[in-house]
Amino acid sequence: MGSTDARVAVIGLGAMGSNALWRLAERGVEAIGIEQFAAGHDRGSSHGDTRLFRTVCLEHPGLVPLARRAAELWRELEERTGTHLLELTGGLTIGAPDSPLVTATREAAEANGERLTDVDLATEFPQHRPNTAGHIALRDENAGVVRPERGVTAACRAAEQAGAQTVFGRRVREVTPDEDGVLVRTPEQDYRVEQVVLTTGAWLRAFAPGIPLEPFRTPQTWFAPRADPEGFAVDRFPTFIRQLDDGLRMWGHGGMDGGDPKCGPADNPANPRTDPDALDRRVRERDWELIGSLVRRGIEGLAPEPSRVTICMYTKTPDEQFVLGRIGDRVVLGGGGSGHAFKHATALGEALADTVTGEPSCTDLSFVDPKRFG
Ligand SMILES: Cc1cc2nc3c(=O)[nH]c(=O)nc-3n(C[C@H](O)[C@H](O)[C@H](O)COP(=O)(O)OP(=O)(O)OC[C@H]3O[C@@H](n4cnc5c(N)ncnc54)[C@H](O)[C@@H]3O)c2cc1C
Repeated sequence: MGSTDARVAVIGLGAMGSNALWRLAERGVEAIGIEQFAAGHDRGSSHGDTRLFRTVCLEHPGLVPLARRAAELWRELEERTGTHLLELTGGLTIGAPDSPLVTATREAAEANGERLTDVDLATEFPQHRPNTAGHIALRDENAGVVRPERGVTAACRAAEQAGAQTVFGRRVREVTPDEDGVLVRTPEQDYRVEQVVLTTGAWLRAFAPGIPLEPFRTPQTWFAPRADPEGFAVDRFPTFIRQLDDGLRMWGHGGMDGGDPKCGPADNPANPRTDPDALDRRVRERDWELIGSLVRRGIEGLAPEPSRVTICMYTKTPDEQFVLGRIGDRVVLGGGGSGHAFKHATALGEALADTVTGEPSCTDLSFVDPKRFG
């Protein structure tokens, strides 16, 4: 049996794993990261050029301090690697004043001392079709876009610079804790370490069968402006989340680097559960039916059919919060992104490193403890 004498192995170098490896290496922990594909690949949950970044996160009040810490660490990662990763364009929350989206956003801001400003959609952002009189828009200055492929690649590079080993193109088949440590098996080589961090995204269920994690096939879609592409560049058409009057929500942002605007539904019940090893990447019309209709109803000036579609995966938990914590003396888990984890990836990586080394995390993360599922 071959052996690699790292103290910690991080399995899966996507959003969470690459950052966990970086934060472990930064604090001097001897660590190795093992990834089945290449850095910043397009076969998991962290591709498609952009992810929305928001500080005022309505999914849970505990996410606001996490997002603040994540922003600091995205800036640190930018400095370490000379890569531009976080672009704060400001972000809009749009809907009826008493809609669940607007109400939850106001509450999250108030609970955490974040400032939102009122914006007049008709004059400032006429691209948003005011389909119902009375829709309002709130602006969060600390919102924008973060770059998934570049972010993962940068975190891997920063981890290597700080002394971590990385191995790409190698799939971990088995993780077996025993009295002496943990045996990590790959077809090419076995590794013996003291602890493992499991951050295998849509593949996490295979390593943690007791945790309710469901991967879903999720299309990403871009729509070309019919005219005036400059009016749909991200500086004129910043990130937004909108709730229409039938309750459906959409999100999006203007074009970046000369590309088209990207829009998606907040959730699409038609997205099927998937086996990550058998993900169907073929694109069909039903992949954009819902978002095409929301774009038609909510935005003035975009073609109703997408100019680009790629297939990605969400991994959901029943309460749509992440899982991050220890599931054994030697095993730490991070995953279950539920469609909103990328923005927090740097802070989640730090929290994973804290869990490994037994240090307190930057904020109370008990709401993402895997033990909540029993
Ligand atoms: C369409 C879409 C839109 C989204 N929008 C947003 C958004 O706007 N804002 C936001 O914050 N979040 C968003 N998210 C969510 C976010 O992208 C994910 O939560 C996050 O990227 C998940 O990161 P992860 O580290 O869990 O998974 P991944 O980044 O997929 O990493 C898992 C890694 O583990 C590797 N791996 C798996 N099994 C093995 C093995 N056996 N051996 C070795 N390596 C292995 C995989 O190859 C992969 O690289 C969105 C997600 C999707 C799909």
